[in-house]
Amino acid sequence: MKKTLLLTPGPTPVPEDVLEAMARPMIHHRHEPFRAVVEKVKEDLKYLFQTKNDVLILGSTGTGAMEGAVANLLCRGDKAIVVQAGKFGERWTEICEAYGVQAIPIDVEWGKAVDPEQVRAALDEDPDVKAVYLQASETSTGVRHPVREIAEIVAARENTVIVVDAITALGVFDLQTDAWKLDVVVTGSQKALMLPPGLAFACLSEKAWGLVGKSDLPKYYFDFAKEKKNLAKNQTAYTSSVSLIVGLQASLARIKEEGLENLFARTDKLARATRAGVKALGLELLSPESPSDACTAIKIPDGIDGAKIPSLIRDKYGVAIAGGQAHLKGKIVRISHMGYVNAYDILSGLAALEFVLRDLGYSLETGASVQAALEVLVS
Ligand SMILES: *Cc1c(COP(=O)(O)O)cnc(C)c1O
Repeated sequence: MKKTLLLTPGPTPVPEDVLEAMARPMIHHRHEPFRAVVEKVKEDLKYLFQTKNDVLILGSTGTGAMEGAVANLLCRGDKAIVVQAGKFGERWTEICEAYGVQAIPIDVEWGKAVDPEQVRAALDEDPDVKAVYLQASETSTGVRHPVREIAEIVAARENTVIVVDAITALGVFDLQTDAWKLDVVVTGSQKALMLPPGLAFACLSEKAWGLVGKSDLPKYYFDFAKEKKNLAKNQTAYTSSVSLIVGLQASLARIKEEGLENLFARTDKLARATRAGVKALGLELLSPESPSDACTAIKIPDGIDGAKIPSLIRDKYGVAIAGGQAHLKGKIVRISHMGYVNAYDILSGLAALEFVLRDLGYSLETGASVQAALEVLVS
């Protein structure tokens, strides 16, 4: 008997009612029934993003919205500060460089959060920097960055915007687009939104739209101004990802029904339970000081072949988790607790981790992680 529990930090499990919504017969993307779906989704996206502005809906994975947030905002030769604290931070640099934008990296040790003062210093050194690119949650290391504090520093500068990759932050922990003056916030469908991969989202402030008007970088598919115009008519510029957007309506309804505050509290508890479980096994977190509630990155002790864990735990114990990327390959594993995940999923994931660690020769007290997690969950 094979049954797999998906605890990877994207894709994440999709709830049954969302799957059902996506299985409905096709409708035309320019016809009224679909426009009504977009109208509803538009409102609920504003709730999720905590914004008054429209949220653009793109037919791509999250990286498409990241690319759009470079191509639509900047001009050839512009300078941008990039917080590089993991794989996704590096992606901002790669996109900037692909578009002829001069990326000024702030290199942060993987597993650590950036210090807002580092951003201030970099801005002081290069006052003509047009944008600061960062992650709210760096999924490759399980780190949460102090977005609110950094946004405050950027907001004081008239000619600089902050662009936040919130792909594993929105729907995970509190991130207030308007109140914190976040100029661009992007996300994707396959993380906390509980959908399959294939949708990306971008929300722009007035300050950011001002840059869009001046941008001279090449763009065609990810043309934010064109999408904005279409969204005003409850449409997308090209054929909409109809089934995914119908599914989005169902997933956003779930989020709204639970309420953001409850959602954040529930995810926080699952994250704390996971961290407590891991520590009870004598394992260390990659980011003890600034862990993201999206996923927990666990250091694999020397002498244990960490590279074997993801396939072994999936094939033998039916739990899918992620390994490490780049130089962290074989050194960490990552367990997700965002989206459609409950307490029993976390307990199962920890039990499976115990099984696999035992197989690889790590000595542990049976059930220690499950008990420690339960202590958090019942409190
Ligand atoms: C998943 C993820 C992305 C987007 O990756 P895609 O494969 O394009 O969906 C970007 N940033 C972060 C922080 C992510 O977790």
